[in-house]
Amino acid sequence: MEESPGRILAADAPADRDYPQFNRSVRDGFAVRAADIPGRLRVVGEVRAGQRFDTVLKSGEAVEIMTGAPVPEGADAVVMAEHCMRLDDGSIETTQSGQPGLNIAFAACEARAGSVVLPRGSRVDHAAIGWLATIGTSRVEVYRRPRVAILATGDEIVAVDERPAPQQIRNSNSYSLAAQVRRAGGDPVILPVARDERQATAELIARGLESDLLLLSGGVSAGKYDFVEAALADCGAEFYFDRVLIQPGQPVVFGRARGRFFFGLPGNPASTMVTFELFGRAALELLSGANDAPLPLTLARLTRPLRHKPGLTRFLPALIQFQTAHNGPSACALSCAEITPVDWQGSGDIPSLTRANAFLVADPNQAEYAAGDLIPVLMK
Ligand code: AMP
Ligand code: MG
Repeated sequence: MEESPGRILAADAPADRDYPQFNRSVRDGFAVRAADIPGRLRVVGEVRAGQRFDTVLKSGEAVEIMTGAPVPEGADAVVMAEHCMRLDDGSIETTQSGQPGLNIAFAACEARAGSVVLPRGSRVDHAAIGWLATIGTSRVEVYRRPRVAILATGDEIVAVDERPAPQQIRNSNSYSLAAQVRRAGGDPVILPVARDERQATAELIARGLESDLLLLSGGVSAGKYDFVEAALADCGAEFYFDRVLIQPGQPVVFGRARGRFFFGLPGNPASTMVTFELFGRAALELLSGANDAPLPLTLARLTRPLRHKPGLTRFLPALIQFQTAHNGPSACALSCAEITPVDWQGSGDIPSLTRANAFLVADPNQAEYAAGDLIPVLMK
């Protein structure tokens, strides 16, 4: 169980009994009959968490009760200790009135025995772990993490520990993708960089297709030396799409070969990151056994005006800031996250991406936004 956070459940996790099993007090106080309050009541005993009070409570009586203890039969409300006054003769007096059910979590109100609280396909988070522990599941069945092959392409790409010549760059996409894959619950397998040559690329693609999912970076644009689609075709690929009206990431390719799905992600670092989050992550989550893979979109208010060229949905690196409520929860509810585009030099600008925590999503049919406009945001 302790190893399961982040994994996907391979079996339903039903309640082994009713939760709670008994009518449980949610406060320290006095179990009473609601009809008797406000009033003065005789204290006839005490019930602590882990114990029971076996006598039926009668009208005019109260039982001192602790949080988590079973409410005695006959009582239908719990008055908080803070709302009761002890009198010299040991009885209590309260000015509180209350409906039946006050401060009681009734038996089975959280879950009925046998009902499935966590269905197969749910991702295990700390609350899920809390539930698994509650129902006594010390060993959980989870799906295997998909193996995700990562294949960077490009004659200009050198290894991280190499010193690039002025016209070369280091391979960053394999590592940023591996981090994204790991975050999405996959096991990355980084393959050697493929040169911009059809046969060599096809050979490495064939290796990549031994994993559950293949992610390629680069080589999918219309350049003379972009061989990825041709090399995929050599491996018997069928293509589902090879262009999407977004920027960055327009030439993204999705298909299947030898029974495995693949994505050809454009090589510009921002394109690679965005297209993985938009398409690759969802595919990986579904392959992991997840029931769904919603896109983590939210809305935020622009802190400054924004213009973009319409026609494509644009994902621009931005900094989202959540408001701190200084005036209590009502102010918090009214305020909205704010989003500021970060300055960047285009899809190759990795330093700007490190300063962003989100991408704002500019509508293909809207060229201008004013400061204060709401705009969709994809979390980074
Ligand atoms: P491509 O999609 O192959 O045309 O590449 C577009 C841009 O992304 C080029 O400027 C490449 O140098 C850059 N690029 C491609 N692959 C990588 C990589 N693995 N790491 C960093 N940058 C890359
Ligand atoms: Mg290239």
